[in-house]
Amino acid sequence: MKSSLANTMFNHRPTLSPLFAPVQQLGLIVIDESHDQAYKSDSSPHYRTERVAAKLAQLHGACLVSGTATPSIEEYYFLGAKKRPIITLQSLAVTSTAEVSIKTVDLRDNGNLTRSSILTTPLVAAVRSALGSHQQSLLFLNRRGTASAILCSRCGWQALCSHCDLAMTYHGDTHCVRCHICGRTQPLPSSCPDCSETDIILKTIGTKAVVEEIKRLFPHARVMRFDTDASKAEQLENQLAALKNGSVDIIVGTQMITKGLDLPNLSVVGILSADNSLLIPDYTASERTFQLLTQVIGRAGRGHRAGTIIIQTYNPTHPTIVAATERNWIDFYERELAERRAFQFPPFTYLLKLTCLRATSTSAEKTAMKLKEQIEKSHPRLTAEGPSPAFHPREGGKYKWQLIVKSPQRQVLVDIAQTLPRSGWTHDLDPVNLL
Ligand SMILES: [Zn+2]
Ligand SMILES: [Zn+2]
Repeated sequence: MKSSLANTMFNHRPTLSPLFAPVQQLGLIVIDESHDQAYKSDSSPHYRTERVAAKLAQLHGACLVSGTATPSIEEYYFLGAKKRPIITLQSLAVTSTAEVSIKTVDLRDNGNLTRSSILTTPLVAAVRSALGSHQQSLLFLNRRGTASAILCSRCGWQALCSHCDLAMTYHGDTHCVRCHICGRTQPLPSSCPDCSETDIILKTIGTKAVVEEIKRLFPHARVMRFDTDASKAEQLENQLAALKNGSVDIIVGTQMITKGLDLPNLSVVGILSADNSLLIPDYTASERTFQLLTQVIGRAGRGHRAGTIIIQTYNPTHPTIVAATERNWIDFYERELAERRAFQFPPFTYLLKLTCLRATSTSAEKTAMKLKEQIEKSHPRLTAEGPSPAFHPREGGKYKWQLIVKSPQRQVLVDIAQTLPRSGWTHDLDPVNLL
């Protein structure tokens, strides 16, 4: 059906993009899972697939269809502003007679951690019950979280930048917390300002530790770790076959398990820490969390089997978590849009990320500061945030610092990118995140 309907069908790898194929008579372009950040090319040329596709459709007089369960905030806003038709499906794509129950479990409550410090008691009970009836459980761990986020283990307080409203990160070398976007710093508080708890640095767990914990709790269960560390194609095929034929009881997986995997025998899905992605120091953290939770929740209840979904979090009342569990995308969208407007992030401004690479951190910082001064001198009405160390501050033994320039006029950013000093600087216009 796809091939007769679509002249062009995109997949998730822009490197293989058919966008630039010499198609003569183009009638329809379909972008599936269009919210995926992988549609932004992270190698040169840095283009956004959806924007190039829109231009291509316009040139050919073709129709462009963008499909997703969790539209990108930015794209949805622009489509509305341009009065493009938005078609909402009223029922789930997978028809299922099974009931799915979603439960949020509070990690701040020690009463929920009686059996293990990683798996809450309701999750342990759900997995045990699935094992008893020969059904599978999937435990999902988002590893893109940050080991350096500040989060109170007792009350859920987070260190947020007052200027950008983003999670701040801890820097051990200087013992301070820093906003990764605007560069503001403050000393690390010795205890939580709200409840005085001293345990306030988020501890991240890896899939290995989770597997060990499961072996301790369920010594007879057959466990499979499914993540990028074990990603050789052949091995992946074998793992998928084992998942499907039911020779695995408990699957521990990262992001890669969330996409499109259909497991008929799956009845329990546990999200070990919904906070990991919420605490990513980026303006898209909430959007990514909503997308991830929606994808993971979508794994359960696909067959005719009842599904139990357990979301572990320090912030059970966080609006993003609440909206995702209620499958209320519009509510999430409206809140998120208001936040973006208040703190000046897309779609209310255009962004340009400038990164410099130097032999020492001091030199990178100085270079970035010099450019910031130059930009502000030649464009007095412009905001240049930073400089601050990049989220991954080292690359090939060198140090990376960045500036974020915001402007409601994209052309101004194009001009700045074109006059960038040549040595050691790179730019990303319309970045999909600021990490
Ligand atoms: Zn606290
Ligand atoms: Zn900030």
